[in-house]
Amino acid sequence: MDFDAVIIGGGACGLMCAVQAGFLGKRTLILEKNDAPGAKILISGGGRCNYSNLYSSNDNFISQNQHFTKSTFSRWSVEDTISFFETYGIYGEEKTLGQLFPASNNAKDIVNVFTQLCNELGQTVYCNAEVKAIKAEHDRFDIIYEREGEQIQLKTQKVVIASGGLPISKMGATDFGLRIARQFGINITETAPALVPLTITGKDAEWFAELSGNTVFCAVSNDRITFEENILFTHWGLSGPAILQISSYWRPGEWINIDLLPGKDIVKLIMEERESNGKKQLLSFLSALYSRKFAAALEKFLPIDKNLATLTKADLDLIHAHIHHFRVKPAGDKGYDKAEVMRGGVDTNELSSKTLESKKIPGLYFGGECVDVTGWLGGYNFQWAWASGFIIAQNI
Ligand SMILES: Cc1cc2nc3c(=O)[nH]c(=O)nc-3n(C[C@H](O)[C@H](O)[C@H](O)COP(=O)(O)OP(=O)(O)OC[C@H]3O[C@@H](n4cnc5c(N)ncnc54)[C@H](O)[C@@H]3O)c2cc1C
Repeated sequence: MDFDAVIIGGGACGLMCAVQAGFLGKRTLILEKNDAPGAKILISGGGRCNYSNLYSSNDNFISQNQHFTKSTFSRWSVEDTISFFETYGIYGEEKTLGQLFPASNNAKDIVNVFTQLCNELGQTVYCNAEVKAIKAEHDRFDIIYEREGEQIQLKTQKVVIASGGLPISKMGATDFGLRIARQFGINITETAPALVPLTITGKDAEWFAELSGNTVFCAVSNDRITFEENILFTHWGLSGPAILQISSYWRPGEWINIDLLPGKDIVKLIMEERESNGKKQLLSFLSALYSRKFAAALEKFLPIDKNLATLTKADLDLIHAHIHHFRVKPAGDKGYDKAEVMRGGVDTNELSSKTLESKKIPGLYFGGECVDVTGWLGGYNFQWAWASGFIIAQNI
């Protein structure tokens, strides 16, 4: 069969690419390793799929070339994502911070849109089809894939690498995109797990473990960025949205600053309280701000048994330091099996920002997570996957 392009990977980017190419009358073949397309869409957002973000802007993406996504997002915006899904009966509901979920709360509805459209548009999807190799021959590519124990070879002029990133190998994740880039001499920026929980080891580990299950609203920062959201204590360290967000900006060996009372001044609050209630214990004062368990755990650092009236200047300085500048040095992260995305990937300098085609290898396109474009937590990564799939479809 003749296809205008072969798309490797039937995830968010590959599916959008096939559908948009279909709208333009182009025939594509998706080769997907799993037994069904859209595995990560199905598990995303806790099975509800946070499919875009109302406030998405260039600043919500990390890339060595911070301007690279501008061209893509100018041609496929959040409004385009919203109206695309609305056309097929999926209406978005904002949960928090602009995060859009289908009103049905069911990620399956998103995948169904693509499988139905692929059918209607005559786009071919082969599942259980793992691509093993790509060879370039003059102006064509030889794709070698395995399906039902058979090794099959096909020729095509255009290949779309939409094979995702490294997180969660049991869901089909492979290093295929990176391998192909290397094979063709295309540079890759350093890759690492991102949107990932961070681990704490050593003498403080037990303190964190004992607080497992507690959440605190914080401002978590390093010298590059600050996120105000919850942190979650776990048996092995820290998780929760604020930690996942900062993890994408964290490098091993670095400290993270946690303001446990963002936007307020703990010393000022104590001074106000002690005017009328000097006999109040610090523990009881802190318990009004945090869970009783967390307030009690602050005993490790603060004189929580003292009355507010008896706190000295040195005590107040200590309290200020621990509440507003609680510093942690994570030992590491939980790795690709717990990460939502991969940071880094195919160097954007190697791709045309207008078409996402390799500058070195005409006919070879890269989209979605295998490219060095990493979104924040909150629907941004799907926004990039849909947008990059759309752009490639216009150009294959
Ligand atoms: C637990 C979890 C929750 C998430 N929740 C959200 C969320 O709510 N919102 C959000 O924006 N982002 C979320 N993400 C991130 C989002 O899922 C990814 O950014 C997005 O799926 C990337 O799309 P993609 O098409 O590039 O890759 P993928 O969706 O990963 O698709 C790649 C496909 O390629 C296939 N493949 C790989 N190698 C081969 C090969 N050699 N041959 C054939 N097929 C191959 C894989 O099986 C896979 O189906 C979440 C991620 C995880 C892990």
